[in-house]
Amino acid sequence: MQGPLWLSDERHALCRRSMYNIGMAANDRNDPFRRPSSESDYSLIEFMREYPDDAACLDRLWRDRFAPDGHTADCPKCERPRRFHRTKTRTSYTCDTCGLHIHPMKGTIFEKSTTSLQLWFYAMYLIASTRCGISAKQLERELGVGYKTAHRMMKKIRTELMTDADDEPLSGDVEIDETSWGGKPRHAHSRAEAAAFREAKSTVLGMVERGGRVRARVIPSRRGPALSREVVANVNPSAMIFTDDWVAYKPLRGQFLDHRIINHSTGEYVVGAVHTNTIEGFFGNLKTGMRGAYKKVSPHYLQSYVNEYAWRHNARREGKALFAQLLARAAGS
Ligand SMILES: [Zn+2]
Repeated sequence: MQGPLWLSDERHALCRRSMYNIGMAANDRNDPFRRPSSESDYSLIEFMREYPDDAACLDRLWRDRFAPDGHTADCPKCERPRRFHRTKTRTSYTCDTCGLHIHPMKGTIFEKSTTSLQLWFYAMYLIASTRCGISAKQLERELGVGYKTAHRMMKKIRTELMTDADDEPLSGDVEIDETSWGGKPRHAHSRAEAAAFREAKSTVLGMVERGGRVRARVIPSRRGPALSREVVANVNPSAMIFTDDWVAYKPLRGQFLDHRIINHSTGEYVVGAVHTNTIEGFFGNLKTGMRGAYKKVSPHYLQSYVNEYAWRHNARREGKALFAQLLARAAGS
């Protein structure tokens, strides 16, 4: 069993700052709490109080998955609700009556991992509390684990907890736009080379309901039918769609309630309600975040990074702390 959470120097400093600055008056110093005005939805101090060690984390999974009151679970062997107790020296709970073990980590991303459960929880906390994502390198420093472990944890959390399970088509007013991803060529020796480079860039197609959900897909090219096919697959025909005047959007005409077009090519950006500012804002966040957190992203992994940003956008609308949502997902609820 691990001791208390090990904190890096940066986190220690952060911790102290939160204690003395975010906390209330002097007599509250031993009991700091988050001001309602704070942008944070779940502070590090709150996390530390709730999950001071591995046992507390395991108890959370146990309650979420098997025993809401912490003691009583359906015993598959006794075939009725029974009282359980925590098994000493093992990560399981034992039926008081028949001695059967239940392992709360079984079937979750934590199963078979040699990394402590508290470090997993802390990784999810960090990923959920950064606005623009965190790199595996940063995670390595914060957790005090090796780079490979940090990278593996990051990948598990991203691909298994941050993918959008929602496949209900987007509706209402839906803005659609595409952007390319991939750095600039350092030295293009010829026009042909520069053009080849542009073609090699990945295209991300973004679709967003105004005031609602976003969906983003990596598509092979901004030319050709793939683009309009994705739109048709993700947007309800009853929607009003907004795009720019890029030729690949033309096939969408007549397939939706209406198709409003902004003529970016002639320098128009907003004409009344006709604009694509919402989706461009999403792309802005995506690019800023990815540039900072993930220096190099191969086209192969691009979709999972894009998913993470779409998840952040959509999860924020739920009004529940992002960490709680990751945890619920991890517990399979
Ligand atoms: Zn039993």
